[in-house]
Amino acid sequence: PRLANQIAAGEVVERPASVVKELLENSLDAGARRVDIEVENGGIKLIRIRDNGTGIAQDDLPLALSRHATSKIDTLDDLEAVATLGFRGEALASISSVSRLSLTSRPRANGSNVSAEDAAPLIQQEASAEGAWKVEAEGRDMDAKVSPAAHPEGATVEVRDLFFNTPARRKFLRTEKTEFGHLEEVVKRQALSRFEVGFSLRHNQRTIHSLRPAASMQDKERRIAALCGSQFMENSVVIDVDASGLKLWGWVALPTFSRSQADLQYFFVNGRVIRDRLVAHAVKQAYRDVLYHGRHSAFVLYLELDPANVDVNVHPTKHEVRFRDGRLVHDFIFRSLHKALADVRP
Ligand code: ADP
Ligand code: MG
Repeated sequence: PRLANQIAAGEVVERPASVVKELLENSLDAGARRVDIEVENGGIKLIRIRDNGTGIAQDDLPLALSRHATSKIDTLDDLEAVATLGFRGEALASISSVSRLSLTSRPRANGSNVSAEDAAPLIQQEASAEGAWKVEAEGRDMDAKVSPAAHPEGATVEVRDLFFNTPARRKFLRTEKTEFGHLEEVVKRQALSRFEVGFSLRHNQRTIHSLRPAASMQDKERRIAALCGSQFMENSVVIDVDASGLKLWGWVALPTFSRSQADLQYFFVNGRVIRDRLVAHAVKQAYRDVLYHGRHSAFVLYLELDPANVDVNVHPTKHEVRFRDGRLVHDFIFRSLHKALADVRP
């Protein structure tokens, strides 16, 4: 709470995709290795996300739904080097204020915040032996109630009837198909940045994506193909450059790649997807320079650098970054791509 005013207010919940984004980030922050996403009616009727992360202790459940409660920052200094994706402590509160939300969890057995002294009353002991609890909130100004539940280690967040109490915002929702498209894009970005995590996405009981954790390069390429199409995989060149504290790797499409779909341009900085003018310029320039005039570039690229040299907290939507040495980053990206593309020039 003491940090509440110092943290820029995040954007509000806009559509099902924004809910999924926040929930996915929470699951990943909790160290989940597997995340299963189930949605109905483009996410408007139901979004259910189950993970096998650390889970949440019983006492912390109501807290998780309260505004500006975050377990992720202790001091203002932490803001400087924020490593986790979420840090504003208001996502669950915002979402629960415009939906029917439940959060069910059993903390991991080796979790440190379960105290043995908090022996539960007898009546709760059986459920407590199960160790799973559920908290529910419905719309604004509701007290979150905690009740016993059954759940494996990890957490499940269920969001039903988004905007049921805010007709004005509900009106801004598009068709089920469009909303699902946005939502799928959010899942895609996470799946592209967290290869070590298994993901599944189901829409209206249909499996859309089922992605096993990918360790080897081959597994990663399989995942890229599943998410971006095998056309892209077959018509791209691998980038892998490591120099002066910067690492750039990924795939860049060759001119033989023709695509009918929309933008296929993903750039991740330390695992976070970004849209940045400096980066876009470097990529575009390299692409243009090596004979691909007039072609739109397509790429899935990963830049890794010391977190101290990049500020990811520029904007609450967190798509923008500021590099400490923008010139260096720009030139590094440009040169790396330029060389890789020139090497395969026919
Ligand atoms: P923030 O992520 O910014 O801390 P949120 O409102 O998104 O704020 O979440 C509030 C808190 O709830 C988190 O700090 C975390 O402690 C807990 N939490 C939320 N989702 C999960 C999850 N899937 N697993 C474990 N803990 C969670
Ligand atoms: Mg969060």
